[in-house]
Amino acid sequence: MKIIFVTWGSISWLWKWITASSIWKILKSAWLSIAMIKMDQYLQVDAWTMSPYEHWEVYVTNDWTETDLDLWNYERFTNENLWSDNYITTWKIYSSVINKERQWKYLWKTVQVIPHVTNEIKESILKVAKEKDITIVEVWWTVWDIEWQHFLESIRQLKNELWKNNVMYLHVIPLLYLNFSWEVKTKLIQHSVMKLREYWIFPDMLICRTEVNITQDIKEKLFMFCEVPMQNIIEAKDASSIYKVPEMFKKQNVDKIILEHFKIKWKTSNLRKWNALVSKILEPKNKITIWIIWKYIEFEDTYKSINEAFIHAWVANNTKVKLNWINSEKLEKHDFKEILKKHYNNGELFWILIPWGFGNRWIEWKINAVNYARKNKIPFLWICLWLQVAVIDFTRDICKLKNVNSTEFDKESSNPVIDFLEEQKNISKKGWTMRLGSYKAKLKKWSLTYKLYKKDNITERHRHRYEVNPNYHNILEKKWLIFSWMSLDRKLVEFIELKNHPYFIATQAHPEFKSRLEKPHPLFVWLVKESLKKLKS
Ligand code: GLN
Repeated sequence: MKIIFVTWGSISWLWKWITASSIWKILKSAWLSIAMIKMDQYLQVDAWTMSPYEHWEVYVTNDWTETDLDLWNYERFTNENLWSDNYITTWKIYSSVINKERQWKYLWKTVQVIPHVTNEIKESILKVAKEKDITIVEVWWTVWDIEWQHFLESIRQLKNELWKNNVMYLHVIPLLYLNFSWEVKTKLIQHSVMKLREYWIFPDMLICRTEVNITQDIKEKLFMFCEVPMQNIIEAKDASSIYKVPEMFKKQNVDKIILEHFKIKWKTSNLRKWNALVSKILEPKNKITIWIIWKYIEFEDTYKSINEAFIHAWVANNTKVKLNWINSEKLEKHDFKEILKKHYNNGELFWILIPWGFGNRWIEWKINAVNYARKNKIPFLWICLWLQVAVIDFTRDICKLKNVNSTEFDKESSNPVIDFLEEQKNISKKGWTMRLGSYKAKLKKWSLTYKLYKKDNITERHRHRYEVNPNYHNILEKKWLIFSWMSLDRKLVEFIELKNHPYFIATQAHPEFKSRLEKPHPLFVWLVKESLKKLKS
């Protein structure tokens, strides 16, 4: 059992997850079994109650745990699934300690942070680590934060319990370059390492985020102050693609250094296949544009998984995908039809994708947008909320029902075509009303969706609260809205298609969560492929 702890110093946005994922990638390609854990300090049970502006997108594991986006970042680099145990938060640790106290597991002891909370943290790490050759633990938040003290204390203790060469500390830290004096500054690194030393943690490797090359002088200085061997001072410069970072690390022998530290017999890692995929990102043959209507504007990373799913589909099709984002607010301020028509006539608009969302802001305008796309047969892919919006539009316009809505937007609606399921209505704590995680479904064999997935039993990940109301299934089906598949108990609509529309697929799930560079998602691959065909025709 070997553990690598990745800590960071001074500021956020150092792309520490890219470091952790890239190290996993190179070690995995050296035929080792690797696990990843992320430790997050927040107290929330699920991540979705945090603002998407602050925390970007929320991710969900197969086993119903909401996490922050980093877990998906790991999955998309490594093409492996992560589980609830791979995500340790303050909430999990404290609720477990408090439960144990209630069960009298600590009887006659004073229950306190050290040793009870620190033991809980160590046990959670070891539970995962004992299954694999090497486990990488990303310690979120900087070492300066007060909230981290007991986490840092736990990872210090593990060094003694597992013996020194079974534990390795990597510290990710910016190497400052001052534009005005053309100087490289190491002070931030020195101080950050001093801070770690206060916890009796001595980094074995420094991963320096830098704009400039690290010269021999700088390395000598860092060695002198931080006592990290010079070959273990790694240059992490901005890369033209994040997927190039594993190769960047391999060139600096990061894998070799780690394996030598752990005294694991050296095996050569092979990134040939991976690098061939990366070269398609950098030198694509074709280019297309996809339009995305989005709600959480100002911060594109709120839809990070969609962005990346398109990069994966771009590699599969050797076609660069330019994403144009239309702010949902524009739908209100301008005539949506005009916006679409203008771009369509310019030959720019090949496909529109509309991702997820919560709440009723701009909802009527979104319904108009769906209506326009449906009637004009514009190729669309709708995700989650937009399946619901498409169903509302269809029930109003084709089924001719009155006062149709989702109870998320109108509690008084007399035709709540989107609603909570009966069992959800009895849940008093809002936090437990989400449908989360992986759900199995059966595709109808004649559907377009089946053609794309090429199998009838599939799973996709979910994170939403509302469903297509089962009382309306019959009327919708009769009027040609096709449920191309439903979950196995037939209560939940998962996908809809539309008769007489060439490309109309809406899904209640989040297909973007399952896309990876080495396994692009069939829906996104199809979307890019069809757009390219259209461009060439
Ligand atoms: N707001 C909708 C629901 O909760 C859709 C959520 C989403 O798009 N993920 O059901």
